[in-house]
Amino acid sequence: MTESEHDIALEDTDRIQGHAALVNNVKAAVALAGAVRSTLGPLGLDKMLVEDGGDVLVTNDGVTVLETAKVDHPTARLLISASSLQDRSARDGTTTTILLTSELLQNSLELVRMGIHPSVILNGYNIALEESLVELKRISKKSELPESELAIVSTSLAGKVELGASKILTSCALEAASVLVGEEGGNDLERLRIKRLQVNNGGIKDSRLVHGLVLAKTRLDSSTPSFSKDGKIAIIDGEFESKKIELDASIEISDTGALKSFHDRNINKLQNVVEHIKSLGVNILIVRDGVAEEAVTPLKNAGIITYRRMERTDIELLSKITGAKPIRNPLKINDIDIGDYSKHSEELIAGVKYTTIEGKKGGGMTFIINGTTPEIRSEIKRVFDDALGVAHRLKRESWILPGGGASHTHLARHLRMYATSQSGREQLAIEAYAAALEIIPRVLAENSGIDPIDALLSLSAAQNNDPENGSWIGLDAKTGQNISMEIAGILDPLFVARHALSGATEAVNSVLRIDDVLWAKQDAQTPDWQNEIDED
Ligand code: ADP
Ligand code: MG
Repeated sequence: MTESEHDIALEDTDRIQGHAALVNNVKAAVALAGAVRSTLGPLGLDKMLVEDGGDVLVTNDGVTVLETAKVDHPTARLLISASSLQDRSARDGTTTTILLTSELLQNSLELVRMGIHPSVILNGYNIALEESLVELKRISKKSELPESELAIVSTSLAGKVELGASKILTSCALEAASVLVGEEGGNDLERLRIKRLQVNNGGIKDSRLVHGLVLAKTRLDSSTPSFSKDGKIAIIDGEFESKKIELDASIEISDTGALKSFHDRNINKLQNVVEHIKSLGVNILIVRDGVAEEAVTPLKNAGIITYRRMERTDIELLSKITGAKPIRNPLKINDIDIGDYSKHSEELIAGVKYTTIEGKKGGGMTFIINGTTPEIRSEIKRVFDDALGVAHRLKRESWILPGGGASHTHLARHLRMYATSQSGREQLAIEAYAAALEIIPRVLAENSGIDPIDALLSLSAAQNNDPENGSWIGLDAKTGQNISMEIAGILDPLFVARHALSGATEAVNSVLRIDDVLWAKQDAQTPDWQNEIDED
């Protein structure tokens, strides 16, 4: 394409190029970080999000704020995906990721203004990341004691729920994670194996972990047993019905005998299915869809306890924990498709009957979330997800770091020294990277009502004055003191810190590579701060 052809092709777009594009993108990132900044740390405040329809969501979770907010700016969306990725891979550290990204971008803008090319900045940032990851690993410690596991999980809940609730969520998360130790499955195993069931009964403190799958259901026939042990279970992945005659069908049934024989044939068919299932020794039958009226009595007479109308996720979990294979056609169920359960029971919670089935094959649990309002229950669910995610990953990778801004402050000090070993302009980028890391202790101080500059200076000095254990000294946001994070029990997992640094650096990489932003005119979304850019 020639230059003029290019211009024609771009006729329908607004265009921001070069320096202006970077300024624009950085502003979007800073605006976004501003939206979650005040939620960081144990004294971070909650955000109330009001959706179009008037639904209200109160949360302290950075990624939830961002995913709910309707953000149109492409850079902002890029950062939101960095934070969502952090959520998926580490379950925690989402606010940290956004703050780091925005700070790194802001510092790179300063460097660009000094005449340093973005590719040099990228280089320097990547060198700084590599060095940071090595240094983080070096100062990390292995968590072997149950107390440090408790401290890590409760640090991840700090500021999200009050202390009593935090204790329950922490111990349930650790208990659930320990059941899954040694089981095959990817990072998402904990989401798949632990059902979250919200129940309107009592306060947060009544939330509990149940071993087994809990269903908001009762058995099809109340004369079958509500409790049984060590039995066999089959799952029909469809319905247990016979073909019905459509009564408004156009065939005229003159002979009442014909209708009766049709019914009889159907009942016979159902009876055959029941006989088949009974012959397999099945005690509990799970049917994903409906069960024919005519099948209820034969099933009861065969001693089969039946449950119908199941959620797909419940079927999957039940299959995992009992080894039963969901089969569409009941007549095709074979011996090998039958699963084993250890206990089945029913209980009444807040006037609703619930059934629990415990399997013998794999760990499967239900976390029953109590809370007085739906908003509280959904926030508890989000908080528990974080705690469980951290607990689960911690069982696989148990290296820990000091929280309270200690590791970021240490890294900043380390990188400033390290930068001098680089002869090129990258040195400046590494220093900018170091300065960006200090956003974490600064915001932690800010959110605790402590002056961020004083806090940072005194924390750096405290670390510097203790050559041996300085890197573990951090800011206890609740007391304002610089103390050993190990003693204070403010601990972050290494994997959270590592993902946050890599994710933020990666997001910055992609923003810095952008040199040209084209806004399609038909869907013009040029941001409000366009005027500020023009003044720039
Ligand atoms: P994120 O979404 O990044 O996980 P959080 O709001 O959960 O954000 O805050 C996490 C940060 O808060 C971590 O850096 C952690 O070390 C810090 N933190 C937690 N408890 C304390 C505390 N008592 N004092 C200081 N920092 C704390
Ligand atoms: Mg957190």
